[in-house]
Amino acid sequence: MHYKGSCHCGQIAFEVEGELTQAIECNCSICTRKAALMWFVPKNKFRLLTPEAHISTYTFGQHRIQHRFCPTCGIHPFGEGIDPAGNHMVAINVRCLENIELAALPVKHFDGRAL
Ligand SMILES: [Zn+2]
Repeated sequence: MHYKGSCHCGQIAFEVEGELTQAIECNCSICTRKAALMWFVPKNKFRLLTPEAHISTYTFGQHRIQHRFCPTCGIHPFGEGIDPAGNHMVAINVRCLENIELAALPVKHFDGRAL
């Protein structure tokens, strides 16, 4: 499946390829505040359609995850990081994808606060 996503104002737009079968709701300090529902995909399945310069980046703690957000509308459409196997992953905020039935998507709870 091919999905398109964006921030609210459209300054950040992207597309992603893959099978969205579930979303992850994490209870860590930032995911709770963002109310993000995440979908992890390899970076090569993700394509940014707008200039990199449109994106701001926030990191905290061990600075291993880049939380990417729009400085204009404040929406966090995705984050980036390296998984334990060394793969560059993108965590898509599925709330920013077009044409998906959010209510029908199974949500798996992840205890990120305990990490
Ligand atoms: Zn925006």
